Amino acid sequence: MALVENWQLRRKMQYKYDDTRPKRQIGFVFDINRCIGCQTCTMACKSTWAFSKGQEYMWWNNVETKPYGGYPQHWDTKLLVQHGAQQWRGDEFAGKTIFEKDDGELRDEPVGYIPDVAEWRFPNIYEDTATGFAKKGLSLPIHQDFFFYMQRICNHCTYPGCVAACPRKAIYKRPEDGIVLVDQDRCRGYQECVAGCPYKKSLFNTHTSKAEKCIACYPRVENNEIPRCVAACVGHIRLSGWISLPGEARPDNPIDYLVHIRKVALPLYPQFGTEPNVYYIPPRWVPRNHLLQTFGPGSQKAIDVRMDADPELFAVLKLFGATTGTIERFSIEGDSVIGFGADGKTVIEMPLEEPFYERPFYDADADVYRFNEP
Ligand code: SF4
Ligand code: SF4
Repeated sequence: MALVENWQLRRKMQYKYDDTRPKRQIGFVFDINRCIGCQTCTMACKSTWAFSKGQEYMWWNNVETKPYGGYPQHWDTKLLVQHGAQQWRGDEFAGKTIFEKDDGELRDEPVGYIPDVAEWRFPNIYEDTATGFAKKGLSLPIHQDFFFYMQRICNHCTYPGCVAACPRKAIYKRPEDGIVLVDQDRCRGYQECVAGCPYKKSLFNTHTSKAEKCIACYPRVENNEIPRCVAACVGHIRLSGWISLPGEARPDNPIDYLVHIRKVALPLYPQFGTEPNVYYIPPRWVPRNHLLQTFGPGSQKAIDVRMDADPELFAVLKLFGATTGTIERFSIEGDSVIGFGADGKTVIEMPLEEPFYERPFYDADADVYRFNEP
């Protein structure tokens, strides 16, 4: 048992193991405002990693429609009820994490549950289902009847619930990049990680009887490439790279810039206490009390910054989906934003303003293309 620092909660908390942070930590930013729910990411992941016997129900990446959708069904509402009402005091978390008892001591096991088989039946139940019918129409800034797409992968948490729950120490966090993996030789299939992951991203292979999970496409990451779900994203909503601690954030690291410097991207259910490393730019039309529960404090500020993007933030948003290489550093030079890789070489150069092309219309009578009405 150890007292560890969780910067997302702005306080220390109890965890089963010491705070041994990796040399660097993989991190992701997903801009919910841009997602079209096309599931290209989902299929890219499925066809790469989860197409074998025993993996039929496995969707390491899924995109669910909030607030009603979820995979497994109702995973978050069930856990929120089990976890109990929690409070924030400003930016500081005043409640208890899934690792802590009421008196602040460490629980034997994280708060959690193993979903029933039936709860894994529908990977995209309630797709596009809103909370109401909005008979009178909707207008910004907030839609009282709403839905939004939630893109979900393993968060490669700093304090993983799956790691804390495993009695075999079969799940581990790689020191070189913070990716969380299951050692298939050590796993005995007890499913404690399935119960202990609050995000339900550790899954049970029904053929091998061992746990499996998103591996953050580590063979690609080792090759300075971004994971498949990030590379395949049609909406260019995803960016992956490296996330630092707040005190060590580099303003030229795009992930640090979005999370720590501009505070435009927020963790999912930070109150669980795992310090997840996937960050979301919150959907601007959603009622703020819902966003508070989902992303913790800071949603309104993040939305304000995102919707009034200055040229620098706009430039960083241009890097989303722009390349399959990992961007370690960015620089705005002239009319371009440039992303640099681990070797310091340019990975991508994006124009800040796209060229504008006017499409001519076809004048069938004259059988010519024109730019202006005759
Ligand atoms: Fe483990 Fe779940 Fe965190 Fe992934 S999201 S590291 S499976 S606790
Ligand atoms: Fe959303 Fe991108 Fe996935 Fe399509 S591919 S559902 S836009 S995250």
